[in-house]
Amino acid sequence: MAITGLSYIAGQWLGNQEGKTFQSFCPGTNEQLPTTFYDATEAQLEQAAEAAQAAFKPYRNLSNQQRAEFLNAIAQEIMNLGDILIETTMQETNLPRQRLEGERMRTVSQLRAFANALEQDLAPLNLNYVDEADANRAPLPKPRTELNYIPVGVVAVFGASNFPYAFSTLGGDTAAALAAGCPVIVKTHNAHPATSELMTKAMDSAIKQCDMPSGVFSMLQGKAYSISHQLVAHPVIKAVGFTGSFNVANALIETINKREEAIPFYGELGSVNPQVIFKDKASQDGATLAQQLVASMLMGNGQFCTSPGVWFVPSGQKEFERAAIEAIKAASSDTLLTPGILKSFISAIAGFESNAGVTKLGKGQLEKPYHADAHLFACDVETFLADKHLQEEVFGPCALIVRYDSEELLIQAIDSLAGQLTASVHGTEQELSQNAALISDLHYKVGRITLGQMPTGVEICASMNHGGPFPSSTDVRSTSVGLQAMTRFLRPLCIQS
Ligand code: NAP
Repeated sequence: MAITGLSYIAGQWLGNQEGKTFQSFCPGTNEQLPTTFYDATEAQLEQAAEAAQAAFKPYRNLSNQQRAEFLNAIAQEIMNLGDILIETTMQETNLPRQRLEGERMRTVSQLRAFANALEQDLAPLNLNYVDEADANRAPLPKPRTELNYIPVGVVAVFGASNFPYAFSTLGGDTAAALAAGCPVIVKTHNAHPATSELMTKAMDSAIKQCDMPSGVFSMLQGKAYSISHQLVAHPVIKAVGFTGSFNVANALIETINKREEAIPFYGELGSVNPQVIFKDKASQDGATLAQQLVASMLMGNGQFCTSPGVWFVPSGQKEFERAAIEAIKAASSDTLLTPGILKSFISAIAGFESNAGVTKLGKGQLEKPYHADAHLFACDVETFLADKHLQEEVFGPCALIVRYDSEELLIQAIDSLAGQLTASVHGTEQELSQNAALISDLHYKVGRITLGQMPTGVEICASMNHGGPFPSSTDVRSTSVGLQAMTRFLRPLCIQS
């Protein structure tokens, strides 16, 4: 299946041979790959937007059953791509086969879960409230009102580099928007453009097979930032689903704020996912817990938005720290997804190293100069409170132990936390019940709390919430994973009669 480097605009593969181009990058060899990709033009965006708007009416009017069939067909077509998909993504990301096969399954499951929700008329689709009329109500009669949920319109989706399937071209936001009845225009992440093209080929087959309006999905390639800003500024766009960094989200929000019509922006960003460890737990299971935390932090070479980046550990836990240092030193170095991410990682490590209150406890061996090696740092609560940078996500294999000497200091540290996607608490049964108030305070900092478990790994299910208070996401009320993700792209409509 040859890669063309073209964008997919309402059923047509288009490129601009005279315009800007870029090449994808192979982190494994630290070299550019030969395929040329063509930056989508503003005229192509215009075409995609027009077609998406034209597709909105027929697409929203499809039955739930028809939309479910479409989502199931997309899932099947992704599987039908076969091994070429996995091999292409391995080359573009250097993520291992097993991880990518798992992520592909997760992406397909996400699409099928939405299809099932449509077939079964599950929440949020069935959240229709009816208030019956009361002609005899005094002093005024009461009308009958019914609350329905309808699709918002055309949705723009931006994928992340670190989940090339699950949070990318045909990932959660695209699945949720299509399930809700919204056409989608995807701006691909330029860390995996060939993967995005293959995924779009799967979508093209599903569109044809299910006889969908061609404008229901378009995919724009592009390295220049301008196309992303033109997309979110376009009047046809009625909502944006974004997964990525805080800085890029802010840049897009700035553009959205200049629009005449305000629209929702759902940004799934990052966080340090604090781990609170109590004394008895650390004394009893310190070594095991430390090894589990290092293994969780090293998943995807530290490039998970749920990576445990800050660990609050009681002072003097020698066994815990010894085991953590050992595990860090044993970690093989690996590549990061893009040279830009590597540059940011190196700069974040230099930031820790230049802070006099922070000690480097250990680091892994750097096997190749373009790898990122695991780092473990430590500081006390006072240092943590004094420097807000220590709360910033390091995208890569790095964690900071914050040693606390008293419950008061731990509470102060938790109170100081910005919004997080997730946090975990590790304690004995007794410690968990004795610290119920502290755990309850932690609820107000996060979108998901895990008790005695690692934060990495986000289940696709109706009860999942993957989001959190700002700055971990830009809308604390919404999730990007699970069935409720569909509500992002539905809006309430009251019918009164
Ligand atoms: P990113 O840093 O947000 O970058 C996304 C794209 O935007 C890149 O192609 C980048 O191009 C481009 N860009 C940079 N500056 C821009 C600007 N001013 N305007 C428009 N586009 C711009 O993406 P990422 O590398 O995937 O980010 C990783 C982040 O995503 C981490 O923070 C991670 O925690 C988060 N994440 C969150 C979740 C979640 O569910 N919450 C899931 C996965 C990842 P260049 O590369 O050329 O600069």
